Amino acid sequence: MKKLAKIAAFAMAALMAVSAAGCSSTRTVADIQKDGKLIMATNAEFEPFEYKDGGEIVGIDIDLSQKIADAIGVELEVSDLAFDSLISALQSGKADIVAAGMTADAERRESVDFSEPYFNASQAIIVSVDSDITGPEDLADKTVGVQLGTTGDQYCTNEDGESEYTVGGVTRYSKGMEAVSDLMTGRIDAVVIDNFPAQKFVENNPDAIKVLDTALTEEEYAIAVPKGSTDLLEQVNAVIQELKDSGELDQIISQYISAE
Ligand code: GLN
Repeated sequence: MKKLAKIAAFAMAALMAVSAAGCSSTRTVADIQKDGKLIMATNAEFEPFEYKDGGEIVGIDIDLSQKIADAIGVELEVSDLAFDSLISALQSGKADIVAAGMTADAERRESVDFSEPYFNASQAIIVSVDSDITGPEDLADKTVGVQLGTTGDQYCTNEDGESEYTVGGVTRYSKGMEAVSDLMTGRIDAVVIDNFPAQKFVENNPDAIKVLDTALTEEEYAIAVPKGSTDLLEQVNAVIQELKDSGELDQIISQYISAE
């Protein structure tokens, strides 16, 4: 019986090893070329980086990913997913890259590889125009809305106890817009979200909401690839470097963000 259990355990381990190798999610650049398309996963609820304009998904990350597809010589396919399922889309081989205003942080680095950063961002606080909240210290007894699985969620939830400011309670939404709607109807007291989407929300509702001056974090956006996708990562980094050197990255960004 003991022996049987051992054999079963061995067979199980062998099976797991084979299936892990069999569904290896890492496509090389050559695989992508053979397939003819680069699959980019994102969450198109994050203007100006990715959002829907009419029926089309547009934004900085789409233009950037198009440049990567062009460099590889393939079509770009954009897959619009929930933000908190983007990393698993890479791990399961459903996507080759994630470009989603995604902050390259230590926790995610355990599951995916990140390109060189292409954008500096921060977490901003949005409140209603007549709010008595003037800075992050006023959030201690307030309910804050965040987008599920984002760095804003991590900061406010403060599981590791490292956040400089604490909040009274956290409500999680699948879309930033839903958090902003609840803020405008008074269901929550503030929204913590990345600074440029925050600015866009305020531009669209200037009489109702405003962004506070103090930012909560400093972050860098990077493109994620499945762990170990060495040649794809090199290709992505080469494109980012080229776009930085030529000034094209700034040009792309300035199409969506007006310099003030
Ligand atoms: N930068 C944030 C993060 O990486 C939010 C990104 C997003 O909502 N698209 O978690």
